[in-house]
Amino acid sequence: MTSLAREPQPNERIGISPRNSSLDQRYSRQILFPGIGAEGQRKLGTARVAIIGCGATGSALATLLARAGVGTLRIIDRDYVEPSNLQRQALFDEQDAAESLPKAIAAARKIAAFNSQIVVEPKVEDLVPANIEALLEGVSLLLDGTDNFETRYLINDYAVQHSLPWIYSAAVGSYAVTLNVLPGRTACLACIFPDSPRGMVETCETSGILNSAVNLVASVAATEALKFLVGDLSAPHLRRTLLSFDVWTNEHAEISAANPRPGCRACGQHDLIHLAGEGRPHITLCGRNSVQIHERQRPIDFGEMDRRLQSQGVVRHNDFVLKFWHDPYEMTLFPDGRAIIKGTTDTAVARSLYARFVGS
Ligand SMILES: [Zn+2]
Repeated sequence: MTSLAREPQPNERIGISPRNSSLDQRYSRQILFPGIGAEGQRKLGTARVAIIGCGATGSALATLLARAGVGTLRIIDRDYVEPSNLQRQALFDEQDAAESLPKAIAAARKIAAFNSQIVVEPKVEDLVPANIEALLEGVSLLLDGTDNFETRYLINDYAVQHSLPWIYSAAVGSYAVTLNVLPGRTACLACIFPDSPRGMVETCETSGILNSAVNLVASVAATEALKFLVGDLSAPHLRRTLLSFDVWTNEHAEISAANPRPGCRACGQHDLIHLAGEGRPHITLCGRNSVQIHERQRPIDFGEMDRRLQSQGVVRHNDFVLKFWHDPYEMTLFPDGRAIIKGTTDTAVARSLYARFVGS
């Protein structure tokens, strides 16, 4: 008697295979692709990449590179998961939003569930001049998952100073744009945009965003990242243009970025003003009516803070965040003293709430 649907035999371990063969199988389809091959896969396995910002683009980049077997991903994000993220931020789910989990932590957990064989280093921090050396130490490629030009210029200055490659990626509305930067060899971000470009200061809040625009830019940037990591920097493989694409109107453009611009502030004159910045105590976040207060290291005991705030409003906390509601404001506090205050864009109001409830 034969059956097409073969019955499992006694002692047969369905779905469980020895570690090495499972590794070979995991990446077998990617190894078959000539641009990667066995040697490329080995290089990916030893690579260390930082993803700065883990919102929509960062989630998509992290998903692609983690599944592709990049050995170490350092995921840096200052924010926590909210319901409005779920439309496009593919690494998060409803439970993450209900728990207000920091995005870096939620991302690390989700990645561990689909690839436990790589290392993810979650960093719940805001990248600023004061911590950039520590946060980006030891990585060979920087990927942009941020939502603001201030941080991108900081990344660009750092990349120029350390001659590190980085990939600029942005998506807003139906529009996606990306650029590879090889400092000293191709145009840097400041070569192309000496100042924040006016047309691109729209935010997710003012223009909305399509998840497909995010996935398009992340797919292009993640592929360029693979080329960097396997060492295929040759033209025309590694793109040397600023590529933009509108997934709704189908307008697209490429501007040459093959050469640095003579006299560029960053890569020409090495005037790294963003890296030399004093840090940013107040920041209004993208896509929300909120202000971030970034104190110098000011460790907070959540248990004690929870007890102190009980009489002032609703409080709850887990290991990663403490949330406090004091109508009409909502304060989210991180263990290092950083806070995001929702319900205002007035930094003075945010500062005074922080001083009143956390301390000045
Ligand atoms: Zn430049």
